[in-house]
Amino acid sequence: MFAPFERLSQLTACYVRVTGIVQGVGFRPFVYRLATTCGLSGWVANGEHGVEIVVEGSHTAIEAFLHELTTHPPPAARIDQIVVQPIQPSGLETFTIRESQRRERPTTRIAPDLPVCADCLRELFDPANRRYWYAYINCTNCGPRYSIVLGLPYDRPRTTMKDWPLCSDCAREYHDPADRRFHAQPVACPVCGPQYLLVDAQRLQQARGAAAIQKAAEWLRGGRIVAVKGIGGYHLACDARNVAAVQALRERKFRKEKPFALMVANLAVAAELVELNDAARDVLTSPARPIVLLPARVFLPGVAPENRELGIMLPYAPLHYLLFAAGAPAVLVMTSGNRSEEPIAFTEDDAFIRLSGIADGFLVGERPIARRVDDSVVRMTVLGPVIVRRSRGLAPSVVATLPTSRPILAVGADLKNTITVVIEGQAFVSQHIGDLDHWPVVEAFTATIRDLCAMYEVDLEQAVVAHDAHPEYVSTNHALTLPGQHLAVQHHRAHIASVLAERGCWTERIVGLAFDGTGYGDDGSIWGGEVFVGSLSEGLQRVAHLRQAVLPGGDAAARWPVQAAAGFLVAVEDLPDLTASPFCFPEQYDKAREVVASGLRCFPTTSMGRLFDTVAALCGFTRSISFEGQAAMWLEHLAQKSPPVQPYPFPLTEGELDFRPLLAAVVEDRCRGRDVTEIARAFHEAVAAAVVTVAVEYCAAFRAQRVVVSGGVFQNALLLERVAELLRLHRLELWTNRAVPPNDGGISLGQAAIAACAGIAK
Ligand code: ZN
Ligand code: ZN
Ligand code: FE
Repeated sequence: MFAPFERLSQLTACYVRVTGIVQGVGFRPFVYRLATTCGLSGWVANGEHGVEIVVEGSHTAIEAFLHELTTHPPPAARIDQIVVQPIQPSGLETFTIRESQRRERPTTRIAPDLPVCADCLRELFDPANRRYWYAYINCTNCGPRYSIVLGLPYDRPRTTMKDWPLCSDCAREYHDPADRRFHAQPVACPVCGPQYLLVDAQRLQQARGAAAIQKAAEWLRGGRIVAVKGIGGYHLACDARNVAAVQALRERKFRKEKPFALMVANLAVAAELVELNDAARDVLTSPARPIVLLPARVFLPGVAPENRELGIMLPYAPLHYLLFAAGAPAVLVMTSGNRSEEPIAFTEDDAFIRLSGIADGFLVGERPIARRVDDSVVRMTVLGPVIVRRSRGLAPSVVATLPTSRPILAVGADLKNTITVVIEGQAFVSQHIGDLDHWPVVEAFTATIRDLCAMYEVDLEQAVVAHDAHPEYVSTNHALTLPGQHLAVQHHRAHIASVLAERGCWTERIVGLAFDGTGYGDDGSIWGGEVFVGSLSEGLQRVAHLRQAVLPGGDAAARWPVQAAAGFLVAVEDLPDLTASPFCFPEQYDKAREVVASGLRCFPTTSMGRLFDTVAALCGFTRSISFEGQAAMWLEHLAQKSPPVQPYPFPLTEGELDFRPLLAAVVEDRCRGRDVTEIARAFHEAVAAAVVTVAVEYCAAFRAQRVVVSGGVFQNALLLERVAELLRLHRLELWTNRAVPPNDGGISLGQAAIAACAGIAK
């Protein structure tokens, strides 16, 4: 921030440079209005590294200007730094907005998509306004950005609005610096802009404009499933309280158990469904308008089976507000417009083909979507909101500044893939792309690499291309086809590095614990319960890990918790017959035991995720999972129902966390008939205690004061809460991810950070 105002009190002119998210967010018109209100002359322009301003006038006016600039910037702007320099006044008479020039290097930050603002909402429902009930209303303070941009700099001809010439009224607003729509690139109105249409399952148009929205609301009330085009793709919507509609959606979408997200009309409706506190309200109403996972207060059959939480979001597009105003049910299922694990549909052709047979109708918007951007997902924890899926409203903003000037492309991991592009040290993380074992997702992955590299003009010949160390990952193999200098990064080091990158921590020595389901280890085995000591500059050395177990069938065991159990439990003595009561393991368990006995297709593993699966199986989750992490989530929800209990033994000996006494105790307690919620809780307490034991021991041995945790296991709010409480007693600080997900969605940032610090990217 700049120097105290007193030092500027003699000035009659100054130069101001503002950096951060200040372009494409209405910053220049804001400065124009502010300067003219203050009676100042001068100019404002988009510069190489932010917005540049010159103001001339009385020193009190300049003070007032600077004060407002810092305290009340436009809602979508994020100011990182303001530099103020005194200059000689040159006698400017007016204040002008200078046109932006195409720069050498676009380090411009394209802003994420924004929810409709309060001013636009007021106009939307004002019968006297010319945009009354117009679903594409927006202004410089709100509306789409990333989902409509085709290239930089961000100007209308390089957006998906290029085919709608402005009418005279819109043009006047667009060119008037005093107007809220000055240079609002997607500006439009019912006279000149795109519209929504309602199309039935036979692709026949039923209505257009406001009538289409009215009719869609009617269909939703009647229990139909409607595909609704939003900001970053299609949703499938239905009445969440209509059991038959929800069931039909599950069957048609081939989605067995994975929870559906909900969109509720407003906060009051949200408060009926879930437990809301101030922190949750803040996240729900934040500009990203993410899906927030919160403890359920009601049971909605079929929406989130066997889950104690509901994923809730508020309306964000004008269309959503209109649907609710038109009488759509106040609680809508709003799930991604796709079939099971495919990527979300975002073009009409795609939606008609892939969603036919699922949707009874399509609420189609004429404005094209430039790229698919799913809803972001956030979970509330004691350490604050943790991002589970980082996408709409958050991507592609800068999440870290890395110590390198060389361009970097990091391609992430194969599950929950994201990519990261680093240009002039600024790390841009893409939206959530998905799991690369589905071909359409692979296409989205390569398209996103092309897209972001083009947008930020990354010259791959000059770049470091970082990828996972797994030789069989799709992402690895794609990276190896690209030019540039290749760098393999071990998965769990990338998890830890993602946290360090967010915090700008390059040299401090930390103890890092990366717990997840699977990742390729240095020795080629399946890692997932790893402890490191070191820093980004000196490297992360593996000092401890979960005791090795065998995994029959390798990564395929992730589908069947009992299969993982067969591998982990061979190490436990005097095991009872687990196919009998109270365990009742299915035949999949016996088959897996035979595989273990034969030793064929068995892989060594230190996966903490599979240990969670094993305990879940012992507590009664004996079926196969239908989405990743399901068994661990089930176990966490079970544990949350229990009061605090003593932890099971989970000793650390010679760098190994020994799970054998832990599992023996779980088996014994189950045979004794102890309540499974208590067993699940004692297991969570054991893992938390083990994290703390490891942290204390290695922090002391290596003189570290900070503990870094990452990996999918640490999305577990109960575990995080217990670890945080216990570490506080030892006066050790706990860091986890806050800008990218702790799951594999954060891997690309970690890879980029390791590449930036590896000495090759300087
Ligand atoms: Zn607005
Ligand atoms: Zn118009
Ligand atoms: Fe991972």
